[in-house]
Amino acid sequence: MNIINGKEISQKIRFELKEKIKNLTKQTEKQPGLATILVGDDPASKIYVNSKIKACEQVGIKSYHNHILATSSVESIISLIKKLNEDKNVDGILLQLPLPNKLDSDKCIQAIDYSKDVDGLHPYNSGMLTLIKSWDEISKQKLLVSCTPIGVMYLLKYSNIDIAGKNIVVIGRSNLVGKPVSMLMLSNNATVTMAHSRTQNLKEITKKADIVVVAIGKAKFINKDFIKDGATVIDVGINRVDGKLYGDVDFDSVKDMNINITPVPGGVGPMTITMLLHNTILAFEKHNNII
Ligand code: NAP
Repeated sequence: MNIINGKEISQKIRFELKEKIKNLTKQTEKQPGLATILVGDDPASKIYVNSKIKACEQVGIKSYHNHILATSSVESIISLIKKLNEDKNVDGILLQLPLPNKLDSDKCIQAIDYSKDVDGLHPYNSGMLTLIKSWDEISKQKLLVSCTPIGVMYLLKYSNIDIAGKNIVVIGRSNLVGKPVSMLMLSNNATVTMAHSRTQNLKEITKKADIVVVAIGKAKFINKDFIKDGATVIDVGINRVDGKLYGDVDFDSVKDMNINITPVPGGVGPMTITMLLHNTILAFEKHNNII
């Protein structure tokens, strides 16, 4: 088994981003800025936002934190977003999800200026992802793509795992992970199968895959019976069971196989925040007409 070390790859990319920001700041005499919005006091959301702010500081992105009450209305969140849309110091806006009290997050996301949508969830950015035909075009247009999916692509790239022409099965079809991962794989010339909870004979399908990306949120669901020898397994799942973190893959079951695999924790997870930094830089470059 070969471990794809997301922590190490993520550190490498963050170092490259830090150098890039140094040059961009010299060139423009401006610093990229990320505005974070935390609604309410959910402890997990607080931890996530704090790690994003810390990561920004480490690479030279200025962060502007906005903490508002859990009792806030959608209208008041949108009014804050509109203010940040107008703020020239802010290149990216991150609204920490999920929102409390069943507030309509779609409405809020749609209010974000799509050029500042560093989570890649605005309908413009997710729509463009389906229209764009190649990876080159995604890079050239500096398209803002959802952080975890783009992180999966960079994990494969930095591990020298080829995608073109490969048979890839993505399990899970969420707007956040499964769909954008599938679109990115397609734009990289893979043959993609999307599986979900209604898929029949899942094992037969995944057994033929060169790369399996699993994002279903079910601890240890995928075991050795789903995976062919020599495959690459990207485990996006994060499941907390009795205070411990598990992926969607039963790691013990596959550990003696000849496969590449991302561990949980330390695989896809660290890439997500790194890609938020990457997207903030893309947005900064676009705002400053840097090609
Ligand atoms: P989600 O919105 O709940 O979607 C889950 C998907 O899995 C759905 O499409 C569902 O199918 C499918 N599914 C559920 N049970 C299945 C089964 N038995 N067989 C096949 N497909 C099944 O979840 P998500 O937001 O995509 O997140 C998925 C996992 O990734 C979670 O554990 C989440 O915590 C994790 N995650 C990690 C990161 C990270 O940074 N590493 C980022 C985001 C998410 P249907 O559509 O048919 O219901």
